[in-house]
Amino acid sequence: MTWPILPGAVIDGRPATLGVLGGGQLGRMFVHAAQSLGYETVVLDPDRASPAGRISHHFICADYRDPNALRELAARAQAVTTEFENVPAQALAELARTRAVSPPTGCVAIAQDRIREKAHFARCAAASGVAPAPHAVIESEADLAAVPAALLPGILKTARLGYDGKGQARVGTRAELASAWQQMGRVACVLEQMLPLALECSVIVARGADGTVVSLPVQRNLHRGGILAVTEVFEQNIPSALAQQAQAATKNIVIELGYVGVLCVEYFVLQDGRLVVNEMAPRPHNSGHYTVDACDQSQFDLQVRTLAGLPLPAPRQHSAAIMLNLLGELWFDAAGAPREPPWAEVLALPGARLHLYGKAQARPGRKMGHLTLIGPDAAGVRLQALRAAERLGIEAF
Ligand code: ATP
Ligand code: MG
Repeated sequence: MTWPILPGAVIDGRPATLGVLGGGQLGRMFVHAAQSLGYETVVLDPDRASPAGRISHHFICADYRDPNALRELAARAQAVTTEFENVPAQALAELARTRAVSPPTGCVAIAQDRIREKAHFARCAAASGVAPAPHAVIESEADLAAVPAALLPGILKTARLGYDGKGQARVGTRAELASAWQQMGRVACVLEQMLPLALECSVIVARGADGTVVSLPVQRNLHRGGILAVTEVFEQNIPSALAQQAQAATKNIVIELGYVGVLCVEYFVLQDGRLVVNEMAPRPHNSGHYTVDACDQSQFDLQVRTLAGLPLPAPRQHSAAIMLNLLGELWFDAAGAPREPPWAEVLALPGARLHLYGKAQARPGRKMGHLTLIGPDAAGVRLQALRAAERLGIEAF
């Protein structure tokens, strides 16, 4: 195969095409970035109405394990990526036999499993000084009995398949821990000590196949009900020493993984000022959506570049930015009746950039879109973001 895969090239008689496993909003924004560079795209997703499938040149509507669908994907695309970590590792491995695939299957397998993820973070801590939360692995009654008292109160998290606070339970006592584990079906879990958080942040990096690593600015994140609500990115959004430490720790994590592609690492800043590494996502991340409007290369542009083997100059943020997640509850009024959010009033605000994902059904907690406010300075952007929040009925931050 010719490498890099140049946009607009004709390969074996067909236009250069990039594929993505998963057709959600992350896949949709990947498709936007790939198409804007001049690639054709192909999406595989079991949902006929998937946000990315609806805008892609080609859409294969099938299960991720369907061998015919994987063959068709490999036949259409020269390179394939994924937009969520819970894609079956087997599907990625199958594609990797004949196609360029990033991220590497082995790295996705680590990020899919909190136990292995935490072990990787603990190994990296020796060099970076940034450790994961004190925790214990729970896979048996014996593990449960051996949990040190210092880990309570804590958060029990399933090792696999958790997202947006799902697969988690806050536990105060050994009895609560035992019953929470029972309720989770006694699957492999991690119990983490409940930490006193001052704030949360994340860092997105991209690493090319040649080892080049570039990084986006540190994002400051506010979660509500276990779901990202607001991301703020501008100078001094967090103290600069912490920002530097988070950047360095993220680079170390991605290099030690031997990763290729875009990766996001989430951090906690504790009330005593210490930085703790929480988890990683082997893909673009909700906290990086502002990059589409506020950076010269978005996280999705970086995903396309790492997948196709294109150069990776350092991305630059050109505007201060605040992103508000638009969850399904905004599509209902106080009485619970369906409504259309007041877009005209929101779009009247300077620097407002609306992104809707094309999902037909709004449900509380469902990510329907996001709104990014950009501008030359943090104070101005904050003012407009608070106005937008008020007009939409989002709690102030
Ligand atoms: P994501 O949607 O980011 O994948 P997730 O469901 O995998 O989320 P986490 O990121 O582990 O879960 O936790 C969700 C949120 O719960 C965190 O952003 C943080 O606000 C809170 N939280 C998680 N672990 C801890 C902890 N050990 N101490 C205090 N708060 C925590
Ligand atoms: Mg998280």
